[in-house]
Amino acid sequence: ASESLKKQGAKGAKFARVHVIGAGVMGGDIAAWCALRGMAVTLQDIEMERIKPALERGKALFKKRLKSKREVDTAMLRLEADPKGKGVARADVIIEAVVEKLEVKQAIFSGIEDQLKPGAILATNTSSIELERIAEGLKDPARLIGLHFFNPVAQLPLVEVIRSTFNSDAEIGKGAGFALAIGKSPVVVKSAPGFLVNRVLMPYMLGAVKRVEAGESKELLDAAAVAFGMPMGPIELMDTVGLDVGQSVARELGQAVPAESKFAGLVSAGKLGRKTGEGFYKWV
Ligand code: NAD
Repeated sequence: ASESLKKQGAKGAKFARVHVIGAGVMGGDIAAWCALRGMAVTLQDIEMERIKPALERGKALFKKRLKSKREVDTAMLRLEADPKGKGVARADVIIEAVVEKLEVKQAIFSGIEDQLKPGAILATNTSSIELERIAEGLKDPARLIGLHFFNPVAQLPLVEVIRSTFNSDAEIGKGAGFALAIGKSPVVVKSAPGFLVNRVLMPYMLGAVKRVEAGESKELLDAAAVAFGMPMGPIELMDTVGLDVGQSVARELGQAVPAESKFAGLVSAGKLGRKTGEGFYKWV
């Protein structure tokens, strides 16, 4: 594997090794994207079973974007399942993309802080939690930045580089440099609930959900948004983001979803959107 990495130029690159924690919708796709762009990636989750679907999605992405079978096979060598997190200590960039829960994220960062390579980028993909709250548990809170990717990762170029009050230009510059190195478009934003995009996007999506709860047709609403020029309607977007993630982000923005709503009912029934096969829509 190391020979083929050398051939692909990953060894010589500034950000040669990336470690992603959380192999769900976002972590899996971020890992695959980085591997597509030539980085050697290790992908961690709590068990191997949760990593496998991400590797499959990675393979599908490589087949779509790369010309030959040889290139696809080489890209697969760059995307390695790592349930024990062995990649942390040698990574140049560590991206956390586990569930949107403050305590889980804090526990992960305090568990790995002592293993990090000096100068490695330490990033969270949180969609809404203020960075300072995640960073405050670290010995060196200045290390942590936000690298907020958007779903679907392979299609959306934007990455919000989130700056906390602890950060200096050095960490932020490195984060933006990494985003550029993987072919994304970084925008530096201050840490605030929902940052920039979700702060604007979530009220739009929740407004649409409220209309559906009031009896409006979701198909009609989504079609209207598309006719208006949006790439997809807000209800389909909520299904794509994941209803559990949407609920957590809404809570962080002070717009908690009422417990008696259809939305909350879908979440407690495990109907979380595309990733589970059903949300507001059926996907299978
Ligand atoms: P997801 O539920 O699809 O995946 C989360 C993964 O984290 C699961 O596979 C789970 O097993 C794993 N996990 C949980 N605890 C872990 C631990 N201790 N160690 C390792 N893995 C662990 O969620 P997602 O949609 O990929 O969201 C992940 C993060 O990305 C969240 O912070 C979310 O807010 C953010 N985000 C989501 C979207 C989106 O559209 N879904 C967009 C941008 C950012």
